[in-house]
Amino acid sequence: MLFDTHAHYDSASFDSDRKEILQNLPAQGVQLVVNPGCERVSNAAVLALSNEYSYVYAAVGWHPEEWESWDALSLAEIEEMARQPKVVAIGEIGLDYYWDKEHKELQKEMLHAQLKLAMKLKLPVIIHDREAHEDCLNAVSCYPGLRGVFHCYSGSAEMAQILLKDGWYLGFDGPVTYKNNKKAAEVLAVTPLDRILLETDSPYMTPVPRRGQRNDSTMIPYIAAKIAEIKGLSTEEVLQAGLENGKRIFGISK
Ligand SMILES: [Zn+2]
Repeated sequence: MLFDTHAHYDSASFDSDRKEILQNLPAQGVQLVVNPGCERVSNAAVLALSNEYSYVYAAVGWHPEEWESWDALSLAEIEEMARQPKVVAIGEIGLDYYWDKEHKELQKEMLHAQLKLAMKLKLPVIIHDREAHEDCLNAVSCYPGLRGVFHCYSGSAEMAQILLKDGWYLGFDGPVTYKNNKKAAEVLAVTPLDRILLETDSPYMTPVPRRGQRNDSTMIPYIAAKIAEIKGLSTEEVLQAGLENGKRIFGISK
């Protein structure tokens, strides 16, 4: 049984076979999925998916790349949706200086508004941090007691240690399986098994040996196998930890 804590089944990549893929997940060993939203249309779509499939949970939020559609109504919309029972986190939120260096201030404004909301609603957050490590760390550090996951963690081992000490989880995806990913091994060396979340980020970041194909939650074992190899554990132990850790941080009891 496995838990994919980060997949985007609302993506247009699944338009032709979304139903088929989602319906078949339990038979393929996928017990739980968290699908984060990224903006208005996506938030509504993930909420609908979470209502349709018992094993799909939603997170709602405004992704930093979606700054153009962020408006005076956005925050209230997120708050209203976040009160629904299948919503387990605020996300995907964060900072992305890889795709957009021009709107750093607006990105930070969006992030802080949503972090404050997560504190108010006592929900964990799903952080997207792309080439914005220092600013992301500074932002979350403003909110003592705030918890969540740094999704597809790409920071240093030093930063990981700071986050782990503060109770954060780190998300690992396809890139851990890519050749010469020394950084992932360094980060995994300082990350205890009970803070690792397994994520696919489907349809993106397909792990080796399926790289080049569309990603989906059934690829989680490839990521778990690589983590197991690095940490000297069995794949089964890593899958089990990933399931328990995901349930703990997202407050899922089933
Ligand atoms: Zn994502």
